[in-house]
Formats: sequence, structure tokens, C-alpha cells
Amino acid sequence: MDAEIGIIGGSGFYSLLDNPEQVELETKYGKPSGPVSLGSIGGRKVAFLSRHGPKHTFPPHKVPYRANIEALDYLGVKRIVATSTVGSLDPRYGPGDFLLFDQFINATYGRPDTFYDESKIVHVSVAYPYCEDLRGVAAEAAKTMGIDLKPTGTVAVINGPRFSTKAESQYFGRAAGANVINMTQYPEVVLAREKAICYLGIGLVTDYDAGLEGREDIKPVTMSEVLQIFAKNVDKAKSLIGSVVPKIASSRSCACAKALEGATSG
Ligand SMILES: [Zn+2]
Repeated sequence: MDAEIGIIGGSGFYSLLDNPEQVELETKYGKPSGPVSLGSIGGRKVAFLSRHGPKHTFPPHKVPYRANIEALDYLGVKRIVATSTVGSLDPRYGPGDFLLFDQFINATYGRPDTFYDESKIVHVSVAYPYCEDLRGVAAEAAKTMGIDLKPTGTVAVINGPRFSTKAESQYFGRAAGANVINMTQYPEVVLAREKAICYLGIGLVTDYDAGLEGREDIKPVTMSEVLQIFAKNVDKAKSLIGSVVPKIASSRSCACAKALEGATSG
């Protein structure tokens, strides 16, 4: 029972592997969002977990982020590839586009966001929270597949479950410089870093957030358009992951692997 690559599926992304072995795990932080499916992609051992649960029962503010990362770490995962749906704050990132997150701005609150809240004091660096090596692999794979993917993007993470006001949306986009907005990237990515696990975040743009609706050159999308884009995006993301996983190097030379070196104080 082990895996080297973990895949966390976001909204609409509830399964990936054919005939997986399902394991139920219990961690010191409780149960993960659902059973972990173990299988392989291109000869690599992978563990798949649906972030919101197989029946989408966990809203963004209630996802058991620590249990999810703890469970993947327990299985031996050293790399995580995760998908998340995002709203766009930037006209250059349109519905149907893919992006790779390289920065985040956290605006969530009340979420347990560390494994080090007891006696051991650890400060990990998250200046570059996303694995640079995995971003390179994914950008290259997307190019080969003809998938239009932006290699960078800053994601503002709001608590949800409500969406933003127009003023908040403008604030995150124009004032803070975020390109897209989402409710689940934090604390997932930093918890992975605390376990020295590489994290690749693939954003699937479904719509424009509230702030762009006033722009005459950008028409608001209808709900049926959003759903169509959503379904296509999830299929495309599955193909992309199928292509990325076999290309991930078996050994690591990135900074994520050394996240805990020199991070302990006291
Ligand atoms: Zn890495």
C-alpha cells in the first residue's frame, strides 16, 4: 500500500483510475475527504483523492485539508498534482483556459493551516509555494498536447462558500494583482510544503468573477456555458494529468524536497 504521486481532484473531478484499490485511512487529524484510490498511470504508482469527497459533501471551508495531506504523506507521496476550478479576475485568463499557479494570496480564515502547532516550532519558506520543476513538466506536456495553458498565475484564495462582492473582486484583481480566484488552494499547498511534498496546482478557469462583469468587452457567461466549459475542462485536465505523471522524474532536485532543512527554530 504505497504511492509516489498523489492526485487531488477538485470540483467535478471525482475519479481518475480504472479499477483502483480503495483504502480508508484515519489520521490524527481525522478522516480524509474520502477513500484514497490507489492505482497506476504510465507505470507510476498514484493515489487519487477527491478534495470535496466522492459525493461532493465538503464545502471549501470544511475540506479536511490536514487529514488529506497527512494521508497522502502516509502513503509515501512525494509529489501532488491538484486541480482546482477558478474564477478569472484578469481578461487574459478566459473561461476554458488552464493555468499553473505560481503564487497565492491567502484571504481565508479559521482553517487549521499547519502541522506544527504543538511543541515543535517550524517555519517553512513559501516564497515560491508551487514546485518549479513540476510546473515545467506540466507546461511542456500541455504544449505537446496542444492544450492552451498559462504557465504562471497568482490565485487569491477566499474562504467561501459565498462568492466575492464586486468591490472584493476588484480589490483582489486590480489592487492585489491576482489573476484568478478560488476557495481551496489555501491551506492545501502550504500543508504539502510542510511535508516537503512537491505541489503542482492546475487551475481550470470556468467564469469571470464579479469584477469583470462591468466591462463591456467581456460578456458575462451563462450558467449553461459555465457547466459546458466545466465538463470539457475536467476531461482535458484528466488527459493532461495522464500525460504529466509519466514525465515526472523519479528523483527530486527541487527546493520542495529540502523544505524542512533549517526550518526548525528553538
Ligand atoms: Zn518540487
